[in-house]
Amino acid sequence: MPLDPSRLVAELRELQELTGDENGAQRVAWTETWEQARAWLRDKVSATGAREEIDPAGNQWFTLAGSSERAVLIGGHIDSVPNGGWLDGCLNVLAGVEVLRRIAAEGTPAVTVRLVNWADEEGARFGRSLFGSSAAAGSMRDQDELRALSDHDGIALPDALAEHGVDLDRALEARSELDSAAAYLELHIEQGPVLESLDLPLGVVLGTFGVERHRITWHGQAAHAGSTPMAERRDALAGAARLALELRDIAARTGDGAVCTSGNVVCRPGIVTSVVETAEQLLDQRHLDAAKLASMLAEAKEACERFAGEERLEVEFDRIWSIEPILFDETLIAVCEEAIREVADRSHRLPSGPLHDAAEVSRAGIPTVMLFVQSLRGLSHTKLEDTKDGHLELAVAALDRLASKTIDWVARS
Ligand SMILES: [Zn+2]
Repeated sequence: MPLDPSRLVAELRELQELTGDENGAQRVAWTETWEQARAWLRDKVSATGAREEIDPAGNQWFTLAGSSERAVLIGGHIDSVPNGGWLDGCLNVLAGVEVLRRIAAEGTPAVTVRLVNWADEEGARFGRSLFGSSAAAGSMRDQDELRALSDHDGIALPDALAEHGVDLDRALEARSELDSAAAYLELHIEQGPVLESLDLPLGVVLGTFGVERHRITWHGQAAHAGSTPMAERRDALAGAARLALELRDIAARTGDGAVCTSGNVVCRPGIVTSVVETAEQLLDQRHLDAAKLASMLAEAKEACERFAGEERLEVEFDRIWSIEPILFDETLIAVCEEAIREVADRSHRLPSGPLHDAAEVSRAGIPTVMLFVQSLRGLSHTKLEDTKDGHLELAVAALDRLASKTIDWVARS
């Protein structure tokens, strides 16, 4: 069966019809609808002869045995957020099915080809993203925290997983799935506005941003809003406000896609008649370059000290969470760029702000690359998420070229 890009678009719509409603996609992991989507996928893949297997973390694998056991992996996730878009995650899975069909029709491939549908990428029900891929990558180290998680109805995560045949205590056994992996490929919608602004359908992803998240607490003095002259005030909100604006300059000075966000400020006592005594501010900073991320953080800390001095405040800086930048494989980035140029003339290199399953696989030491297809208006995680049909067709054609080239590369090396 030759590659049929228009069939990809038709099957994406068929899945949306089956598992979505007027509010969007409803394939939340560990639910009946998700299971229904997985059964539908099983049905779609069966004609290729690929062997199906569900691993101990609930990931759904389809394996097309090749002359060599070394495997090229194509991965995505069929789960969605509630009221999600019709492309996030399932595009990569269904494009992978189309590529499997083409490869299967040509006889035994030189190396093994495996399509993986990762379990619970979104973390929509229990708040823990990248469940299946982190188990397979061996980076899942929060079993005790996972055991304590429950959903809005009070159902515990281990019980919900058990209903779908997954034992949390055994999830890390999924690690053996990556033993034979020689390369990992993932196509995803961009979920941002960059490719659209450049009028390009496709881009190659350099890696995922490193993230630094901090809580900054400013301490001033509560004082009467009527009786305290302006010059006498120790206003905690003034520190937070000055930092929120300074972050723009820090990001601009750092450049190369740097982003800084102050996502929330909680003021106490929080009443109209008092100067703010404490302001608790959230800071998120991201960059693809670890050294630049570290210097952005140092600049934010330095700015805090300066504003605290000028506003006569005390300031505390606490790390909430961080992750290092994860860079994809240079050889595969070049191969991906070549594949994109063959189908769309021009390519563009860009980082990914969101994390993806590919980041987990890359952290596990498997050569990895992602390609992005343009998102209209940069929207995602909403039913308004969209990509032009013609761009989806170019995307599967590029993934197919990338898969062919990667199979050759793995077979040669
Ligand atoms: Zn996704």
